[in-house]
Amino acid sequence: MIWDELETGLARLATEGLHRRRRVLDAPCGPAAVVDGQQVVAFCSNDYLGLANHPAIVAAACAAAERWGVGSGASHVVSGHLRPHEALEERLAMFVGRERALYFTTGYMANLAIVPTLVERNDAIFADRLNHASLIDAALLARAEHVRFPHGDMAALAERLEQSRARRKLILTDAVFSMDGDLAPLPELFALAERFDAWLVVDDAHGFGVLGPGGRGSIAHCDLPPSPRLILMGTLGKAAGVSGAFVAGDRRVIDWLIQRARPYIFTTASSPLTAAALLASIDLIEQGDDRRAHLCRLIERLRSGLADLPWSLLPSLSAIQPLLIGKNSAAVRLSEQLFQRGLWVPAIRPPTVPVGTARLRISLSAAHTDTQIDALVTALHDCAVNGSC
Ligand SMILES: *Cc1c(COP(=O)(O)O)cnc(C)c1O
Repeated sequence: MIWDELETGLARLATEGLHRRRRVLDAPCGPAAVVDGQQVVAFCSNDYLGLANHPAIVAAACAAAERWGVGSGASHVVSGHLRPHEALEERLAMFVGRERALYFTTGYMANLAIVPTLVERNDAIFADRLNHASLIDAALLARAEHVRFPHGDMAALAERLEQSRARRKLILTDAVFSMDGDLAPLPELFALAERFDAWLVVDDAHGFGVLGPGGRGSIAHCDLPPSPRLILMGTLGKAAGVSGAFVAGDRRVIDWLIQRARPYIFTTASSPLTAAALLASIDLIEQGDDRRAHLCRLIERLRSGLADLPWSLLPSLSAIQPLLIGKNSAAVRLSEQLFQRGLWVPAIRPPTVPVGTARLRISLSAAHTDTQIDALVTALHDCAVNGSC
């Protein structure tokens, strides 16, 4: 029975063009990808600063493996919290200017840890409709009331906060939205959190390393104060080029997470070599003004190059540059045509984005060159002129 259901489900996904096939890469993460034996220029990764294969980080990882081995052997609260983990947390707290930071294996886990540990039954979560899946899942796990407000609509949020009788309130938002690339109105969100005595949890997966002075992220970019009610989650597998995530904030919040967060307590600490690699990565992020300036120039070059296409770029100033196509089939066809020309740009379809807004999600990195951007611009113009898409 169950097998028939799975077969039918898989067949349905295939006919709807929603069946996902994983491509195997035969080169390290970077613009020069080797996929199924073919050499292509990749515009897919979140490695915004081009650090995923940086020699200084690789060297730090190798040295740490020699010194600390590869496994941590236990959860952080048992015996898996090694010196490199501790050093990383101190470095991260200092870097983002908060009292303490807590390192997690992934951003998904960090979000699942924060939300249910801070709010429970009789509390309420106020979440932007376009939040990342991990924040949605975190809210479901929390058993608090889950109020979703229209994307970026501060009046709607204020109204819902006003009406709420919840004991504790928690506002939950992406800083840079992962499928649109726009920045949340963080100063307004923070003002509402103050006015209604709520927590504000900011998921800065796409801003950390890229935005703000020294790459300190969206909160630094918007100059928000280090208030106890502000909780920052940053991921370390995107611009930082390694893996993992951190939560930074008030020392009591961090201590409470260590005591109570199940996705923190009941999982093995990541390898100490990852923490050591990240220490090297944070140095490069801090000194990365040239990389960030180059990335900004590439974003500008792409946007001006694509300004007169029949499809429009969403109004994003981040490294995520979505080109709105509309129909699923058109987005997929365009993505395939680009791939045949050696350009790898993923098509993003529902349910990841709303129906009718299928798009190409162009991700830029400081590792891209002007020539690679120009090749993508030319190819998209050719596709538009040929009308073949
Ligand atoms: C990628 C991402 C996450 C998950 O982080 P991982 O470290 O990849 O698990 C969480 N939130 C947002 C907004 C993301 O884009």
